[in-house]
Amino acid sequence: MPLYPDNIKSKLPGIGVNIFSKMSALSKKYGAINLSQGFPDFGVSPHLVSLVNHYMSIGFNQYAPMEGVLKLREAISTKVQALYSAKYEAETEITITAGGTQAIYSAITAFITEGDEVIIFTPAYDCYAPAVELNGGKPIYVQLKDPYYNVDWSEVKKVMTRRTKMIVINTPHNPTGAVLSSQDMVELERLTSGTDIIILSDEVYEHILFDGYEHQSVARFPKLAERSLLIYSFGKTLHATGWKIGYVLGAKNLMKEFRKVHQFQVFAVNHPIQHALADFISNEKNYKQISSVYEQKRDFFLDALKSSRFKFSPTPGTYFQLLDYSTITDENDVKFAERLTKEFKVSAIPVSVFYHRSLDKKMLRFCFAKQEETLAAATEILKNI
Ligand code: GLN
Repeated sequence: MPLYPDNIKSKLPGIGVNIFSKMSALSKKYGAINLSQGFPDFGVSPHLVSLVNHYMSIGFNQYAPMEGVLKLREAISTKVQALYSAKYEAETEITITAGGTQAIYSAITAFITEGDEVIIFTPAYDCYAPAVELNGGKPIYVQLKDPYYNVDWSEVKKVMTRRTKMIVINTPHNPTGAVLSSQDMVELERLTSGTDIIILSDEVYEHILFDGYEHQSVARFPKLAERSLLIYSFGKTLHATGWKIGYVLGAKNLMKEFRKVHQFQVFAVNHPIQHALADFISNEKNYKQISSVYEQKRDFFLDALKSSRFKFSPTPGTYFQLLDYSTITDENDVKFAERLTKEFKVSAIPVSVFYHRSLDKKMLRFCFAKQEETLAAATEILKNI
C-alpha cells in the first residue's frame, strides 16, 4: 500500500513492539521453551469452561451492561469483603473491565491531564508510563532498592510536588515478585494524607503469594482506599489470560470518572464469561488454592536450578522468578535473552526493559506458571549453561 505522506508525528516515539510479544514471537521462531511472556501452559478449570458454554447456549450473547454484570459485581463485593474486610458497593464501586491493562489505561486516562506527574517505581510493568504520556502526564521514576526491591519512602517524599497527581503501586510486583508490607501501606497512607493524590494499585497477582506472606491490599487500609483505584485480573487468578477480563474497585466519586472513560474505550465486556465467573468465584476454593499450586511450581523450578550458575532469591509472589546470570556472561540482558532463546532454546524477559533508562543488572525474568514437564525441560537446559 502506498505510504501516507511521511509526516506522522508519533505520540510514542520511543516505543516499539512490547517485549512480551517480541520474546514470544522469537521463542516460537526458534522452537524455544517459552518462559518469557507470563501465561500458564495448563488448562482452565473444565467446570468454568462448561459454565461459559452454558451461558452462551442459553443466550447471553448480546452486550453486557456497561459497568459489568451485576451478579458478578455482587460476587466480587462479597469476595473483597471476605478477603480484606472492605465494603465495595456492587452498584457504584466495582466495574468489570477487559483485563488489567485496560483498567489501568482507563484509570490513568480518567485522571491524568497535561503536566500531571505520576510516580512510578522501577523496574515497572510496561503499560504504566505510556498511558501516562499519552495523556500528557509525566512519569516520575523512583527506583526500588536492592536486593529485595523495597520502596524507600523517603525518596518518594522527595519527588512529590504540587503536580503529583497519582502514585502507581504494584503488589505482588511484576517483574520482581516483591510484595509490599502493611508497614509500606501505612507509610503511603501517611505520605499522601492531606494531598489529593490518587493511588493506582495494581494487584493483579493478589492470589499468588508464597512463604506465608499475606497480600496487603490497599482495600485493607480505609484511609488509603478512599483515594485509590484497585486493579484485578481474572486472567491471572484463573489461568485464563486469553479471556481478558478483570475489574476495578474504587470509591463512588472516582468510579464515576473511571466509567466515563471505560464506556468509550470498551463500552462493555464479554457477556457470557461474566455470568460464568459470577458462579465460579462464589466458591472461594476456586481462587484460594492458587498460591499453593504456584508455590510448588516455584520450588520445583528453583530446586532444579540449585546446581546451576544462576543466582536467585526465591520470589515472594507472582509467577515470575528473577535469575541473576552475572557469573555466566557479561553480555547485556537483552542480548543474553536473545541468545538464550536462539542457542539454548529457553526464553525469558530481560529486566532492563522495565527500567526507563534500560538499567542492565544481568537479570532475566522467568515465568514458572508451567506444567512440571515444561519446567523440567527448561531447567535441564539452564542447569548446563
Ligand atoms: N503480564 C504478562 C507478563 O508480564 C504479559 C502481558 C502482555 O503480554 N502484555 O508477562
